[in-house]
Amino acid sequence: MDVSLVESESQLDKPQQVDLDRCVHCGLCLNACPTYRELGVEMDSPRGRIYQMVQVASGAPITDSYREHIDLCLACRGCESACPSGVQYGKLVEAARADIENNTERGFFTQLFRDFIFRNLLPSPALLTAAGAGLWAYQASGLQKLMRVTGLVNLLGPLKDREALTPEAQIPFFFREIGKTFPAEGPRKYRVAFMAGCIANISFARLNEATVRVLQKNGCEVVVPANQTCCGALHVHAGIRDKARELARRNVDAVVDGNFDAIITNAAGCGSTLKEYGELLEHDPTYARRAAKFTSLMRDVTEFLAGIELNTKMGAIDATVTYQDSCHLAHGQKIRKAPRQLLNAIPGLQFKPMPLSDLCCGSAGIYNILHTDLSMSLLEKKMANVNLTKATIIATANPGCMIQLEAGVKKWGRGGERVVHVVELLDEAYRQAGK
Ligand code: SF4
Ligand code: SF4
Repeated sequence: MDVSLVESESQLDKPQQVDLDRCVHCGLCLNACPTYRELGVEMDSPRGRIYQMVQVASGAPITDSYREHIDLCLACRGCESACPSGVQYGKLVEAARADIENNTERGFFTQLFRDFIFRNLLPSPALLTAAGAGLWAYQASGLQKLMRVTGLVNLLGPLKDREALTPEAQIPFFFREIGKTFPAEGPRKYRVAFMAGCIANISFARLNEATVRVLQKNGCEVVVPANQTCCGALHVHAGIRDKARELARRNVDAVVDGNFDAIITNAAGCGSTLKEYGELLEHDPTYARRAAKFTSLMRDVTEFLAGIELNTKMGAIDATVTYQDSCHLAHGQKIRKAPRQLLNAIPGLQFKPMPLSDLCCGSAGIYNILHTDLSMSLLEKKMANVNLTKATIIATANPGCMIQLEAGVKKWGRGGERVVHVVELLDEAYRQAGK
């Protein structure tokens, strides 16, 4: 890797004055901010955080207090949708985190833990498979159930809520499908690449399979490119942009020359970052154009399906369904209509809108693990709105939100609600048609 390129990229990994200057401190974003609504503290509002970024950009030191207020942000970008001045808050907070990462020291064990998770575990299919196998053994042996039923889980104290957020390990893992091509059903209309994610290969293997099937049903030849890796979204959110760029380059190389009509993801959080590869690599002379091409082809699966002539040969799903906007779909990618349009295309389905559906559920990548109390407080309020709809199915478009909402149903649900991805409902409807 060119050392001067790494240095010049890291120089840009801090909030830029031109972006900070867009904020006119009007405060119209405050009510859209979950942390401000929850804590009522100006420094935990978008305006307050931007004010602190301006101070640091003007030469003030990066203090623990600054780091805490920036860390506590969900990066949900609700403020971005509310802002009349076009402040790109997501870009600012990601840059602020990178600035903190590059210019402050963390404790030895914290650093060790972060290095393991971000630099070793997430990009490694072998390590993820080993971790997934361990999780599967814990769950399949009944140990997890025993811990929960006997109340032993309470011995974990504050970690109890985190245990409730443990995703299910789904065997067989989706890693076995990577490198394969799935033919279109009927005449081939499109050739698409599917980005399978990292943890999703373990915990959302069935969702990934459903996504491939739905695309096949809609005339897509689906390629799951062999050399793809973790998209780097969690790295970008944590400020670890050097690793995010490395992963972005690998994904660009794995996909961009494959003559695809579109590159598809079913994870809104990943999609937001995958669509920003052009920006992430814009100063890399070797990759800038290739990354821009990658970005131009990138589509969320709901966006793609709503943009083509949808196969409507579906059976009925007789259920009341509500929809929780994933922040990175609604605020990050500005996609709100597409998932609702797809749900409304399913025969028999009764769609019930949810109040404040685009307010963050508290998932936010690994926020629910790092800031569990605040995350749970947001989730409790989210579930109160879900319950108002009396829906029996909660649909969303991001695996992270699904884990969070499943924990919400267990703790504050009316009882037995299912949490699904929009694409899983389409898959069910296509299967019903085949019966
Ligand atoms: S981010 Fe936008 S809405 Fe919020 S204070 Fe600044 S200009 Fe106003
Ligand atoms: S990204 Fe979300 S949590 Fe962060 S300041 Fe904006 S609205 Fe608040």
